[in-house]
Amino acid sequence: MGIGEVGSLSLQGGADWRELVQTRGQAGAPVRDFGPWGGSIGFDSSPSTIWHFDLDPLRLDDLPPDVDDFFTVAQHELGHLFGIGFSASWRLQIEGDLFAGPNSILTFGGSVPLDSGEGHWEGGTMSHVLGTDLAQELLMAPDLSSGTRKYLTDLDIAGLRDVGWTVVPEPGTAALLLLGLGVCWMKRRNGCRIWGRILRFVR
Ligand SMILES: [Zn+2]
Repeated sequence: MGIGEVGSLSLQGGADWRELVQTRGQAGAPVRDFGPWGGSIGFDSSPSTIWHFDLDPLRLDDLPPDVDDFFTVAQHELGHLFGIGFSASWRLQIEGDLFAGPNSILTFGGSVPLDSGEGHWEGGTMSHVLGTDLAQELLMAPDLSSGTRKYLTDLDIAGLRDVGWTVVPEPGTAALLLLGLGVCWMKRRNGCRIWGRILRFVR
């Protein structure tokens, strides 16, 4: 349905310049602190894929059963672009077939099972939608059923922290999300940007 990839680059110059470009000033990058130059996301454009573009992604009761939810897939592929599943700092924290990043262990209560390809969490693994107590399969699980929408979960965020992102909740994150759910429920035509509303990624 979709694919997210980390960007690559080639450059010339002195050692200091190459170091600066490749690590973007992040201590430990690129091995322990993922600092991508960029990336790309692509989506299946074949006629057999029926995308659902929702102007109100916080409303769940209008999702047709036979469509692929663009909002969910876009979030998932952004997760890959940000390093979940395919960055050096992700791979460095895999022990056996488990992910052992400290933030993930803290959130999950132990090392987290991975899919066989080790690029996703294991399918069926559950956490809570960020800032709520709503149980949901992880956004970065490998599969998405038609007619299903997912949001970022606490464990997905923990994985982003483990690959090197500083994820800073906006003040009163949970309250904002709950308030946002309520406000967006009423203002159906305006839509809401979950990522922009509750998170800042700081390099
Ligand atoms: Zn994926």
